[in-house]
Amino acid sequence: METDSSVLHDSFDREHLWHPYTSTINPLPTYMVESASGVRIKLADGRELIDGMASWWCVIHGYNNPRLNTAASKQLESMSHVMFGGLTHRPAVELGKLLLAHAPASMHNIFYADSGSVATEVAMKMAVQAAVSRSGDHRKTNFVTVRNGYHGDTWNAMSVCDPVTGMHGAFGTALPIRFFAPAPAIGPNEEWNDSDIAPLAEIIREHRDELAALILEPIVQGAGGMRFYHPEYLRAARRLCDENGLYLIFDEIATGFWRTGRMFACEHAGVDPDIMMVGKGLTAGYLTMSAVLTSREVADTISRGEAGVMMHGPTFMANPLACSIAIESLRMLDEQDMAARISHIEKLLKRHLSPAAQLPGVKEVRVLGAIGVIEMKEPVDVGEFQKKCVNRGIWVRPFGRNVYIMPPYIISDSDLLYLAEQMIECIR
Ligand SMILES: *Cc1c(COP(=O)(O)O)cnc(C)c1O
Repeated sequence: METDSSVLHDSFDREHLWHPYTSTINPLPTYMVESASGVRIKLADGRELIDGMASWWCVIHGYNNPRLNTAASKQLESMSHVMFGGLTHRPAVELGKLLLAHAPASMHNIFYADSGSVATEVAMKMAVQAAVSRSGDHRKTNFVTVRNGYHGDTWNAMSVCDPVTGMHGAFGTALPIRFFAPAPAIGPNEEWNDSDIAPLAEIIREHRDELAALILEPIVQGAGGMRFYHPEYLRAARRLCDENGLYLIFDEIATGFWRTGRMFACEHAGVDPDIMMVGKGLTAGYLTMSAVLTSREVADTISRGEAGVMMHGPTFMANPLACSIAIESLRMLDEQDMAARISHIEKLLKRHLSPAAQLPGVKEVRVLGAIGVIEMKEPVDVGEFQKKCVNRGIWVRPFGRNVYIMPPYIISDSDLLYLAEQMIECIR
């Protein structure tokens, strides 16, 4: 298809604006978006793309959603923001009630933060404050995790991301040194064997005096490799943490709000964490906001510690506009049979993506909930691949060897079929 590329690629943007993980010397192309509605992104040249990314897992109810728009404009009429130090407001209270009603039973206290990465920072700070306070031992400040993880781009978040695919190479000794066990290898539908967690168990037993917490993405490792693993791993991890005096942190930023077929992925295992982070889908892609939930024991142990308070307080904490949108989004989830909805999407993804397994460059096709992954044998050229996608009317952004989709939950069967078919054509 012929297009006027000057409409799509802006020269100021190319010259002056950073995009995620790009070079200023040789930037990947960026496409000018005019608007977005439902599952469609409209480009400046009038073409429409069916969105397979939900704008990085966020846009769960689709773009330009009338109910979320109304929630936002109603909140604007009373206040967009007010500081949370010494003040509170109904949106924060109401959202807190809704979050606790859905979270694992052990969750009791909520810290609102600005983004997923900041939530990770807050969670790690909480774990250190609580671990030192609980044990009286100032050495218990380090973390153990598994390879292929992703927990965000800020300093401490980076330190627990996969040391190879993450940013350890670029930042070297600037990062604190964490303990890494091999990534869980047994898939959700394979037979469990305790050997999968043995290396983690060994690290925990050997270094328990230095460790504050174990941090994991439950069931799905997202940006670190799009890998799915067995729920028994989480049950064994819970026991290890309890036996060895570690807190267990679940990063539900990507997996929360039904993406894996449950409200939170830890429900697949029936395991409660001590601390958990939510973000991404929390505001359905409208504004940046995250939350860190903890057990009462963690919260009170921090408060009994040396500082006597949780040492964090962002300027935009509990932003009322973001809270109001999140409340409406959670209500919309509650009004639907989400388990049935996601299991329907899962069935379609399995049906439509499985033919790709036969293609020569494809290593594996895997689907869990509303996540469909085609893992290639070789890394994918993102710029080239996206050009093909745009020309076929879909929006998919691969990373590494993974070409994947996690569409808005509102996607129609026919749009999902088109998305899957065209994605396979681009691979072919
Ligand atoms: C995206 C993501 C983060 C970071 O969230 P940001 O809002 O991008 O800072 C952290 N953990 C997981 C699992 C994520 O997918």
